[in-house]
Amino acid sequence: MNVSKSARNFVASHIASLPKSGIREFFDIVNTMDDVISLGVGEPDFTTPWNIREAGTFSLEQGHTAYTSNLGMLSLRKEICKYVACNYGVKYNPNNECIVTIGVSEALDIAMRALLNPGDEVIYTTPCFVSYPAEITMAHGVPVPVPTYEKDNFTLTPETLQQVLTPKSKVLLLNFPCNPTGAVMGLENLKAVAEIAEKHDLIVITDEIYSELVYDGLEHHSIAALDGMRDRTIFLHGFSKAFAMTGWRVGYACGPAEIIDAMMKIHQYGIMSANTTSQEAALEALQNGTSAMLKMRESYRERRNVMVKMLNDMGLKCVMPQGAFYAFPNIQSTGLDSKTFARQLLEKEHVAVVPGVAFGECGEGYVRCCYATGIQDIIEAMKRIKHFVDGLKK
Ligand code: PMP
Repeated sequence: MNVSKSARNFVASHIASLPKSGIREFFDIVNTMDDVISLGVGEPDFTTPWNIREAGTFSLEQGHTAYTSNLGMLSLRKEICKYVACNYGVKYNPNNECIVTIGVSEALDIAMRALLNPGDEVIYTTPCFVSYPAEITMAHGVPVPVPTYEKDNFTLTPETLQQVLTPKSKVLLLNFPCNPTGAVMGLENLKAVAEIAEKHDLIVITDEIYSELVYDGLEHHSIAALDGMRDRTIFLHGFSKAFAMTGWRVGYACGPAEIIDAMMKIHQYGIMSANTTSQEAALEALQNGTSAMLKMRESYRERRNVMVKMLNDMGLKCVMPQGAFYAFPNIQSTGLDSKTFARQLLEKEHVAVVPGVAFGECGEGYVRCCYATGIQDIIEAMKRIKHFVDGLKK
């Protein structure tokens, strides 16, 4: 008997047909090479600020090594609700409208599983974070991408949203500031999208993981804060990006009590509770992490300006990203598709960027360059990309 073949037959069909993340595939190759400047991985290059690490260390020193409440430490939930009320203008009850999760990743997963019946459609903007369509499929939903375009600065317009609505539409998943485009939604568009969500009785999941990282004095608006939206929105946020805490694995969801309760059941049986040390560190991040966060943000802003200018100067048109830490230049003038561009750039110049198509079909013609990378590396990478692009013209 061919064991591996029959073992494969045990895998559920919706998982067997799920593609692996295009990013990981690519970075497996990057990891085998020397001298690569990587603009690929989407995480801060900063170490978690010291006071936050110290809070984690102190938590261990004190012997806080047991489970917490399933929903997460009440002190942390109180602080989260205070932070969300203060910064986003939406009030949640820490006792039953907030759950601490293993990053936004878990929050997204349990939100999908709590909401979806098989066949329910989830509308999500593309290009998008690679996990979205997979998360929807794993929860037996139907992923329905809605494209965003460079001409609209990659924001969602009410017109394009209208085009994908069907009687089976149930969830609208938003992510602004956006990975991979850096797009931020203006208040007018956000209001128009909220109106459509209300009219079509959609529940909105809003992934606001990059919401502290908006630049040039721009104000971030949460759809949860708009009239009538609080009770049809699940607000997801976490500590990975703004506080440089990717490895701590801590995030949260806030929303109507009935939905948080449903999400809690999945979390309770599947996870138990988020990591205790990380929860204590997260509490410190909210209480005393703002000044370090603002310093990191200022550094991202400077690096963004350098990267985007150099990209435009070399003829790769790049919309100025208003949030997150990604630039999404248009590479169509090179005549290469995004995978070929990224592969050849890596082989010839040892610079890693992510092909836009990894973020959905409408990401074709673009690549994602993360600017949470040292400024000298950014400058050197841009010189190498220019050399590569100039070489293509010969
Ligand atoms: N949402 C988006 C849009 C992301 O880019 C990421 C991480 N790249 C996540 C969620 C997952 O974040 P976490 O570390 O909180 O699980």
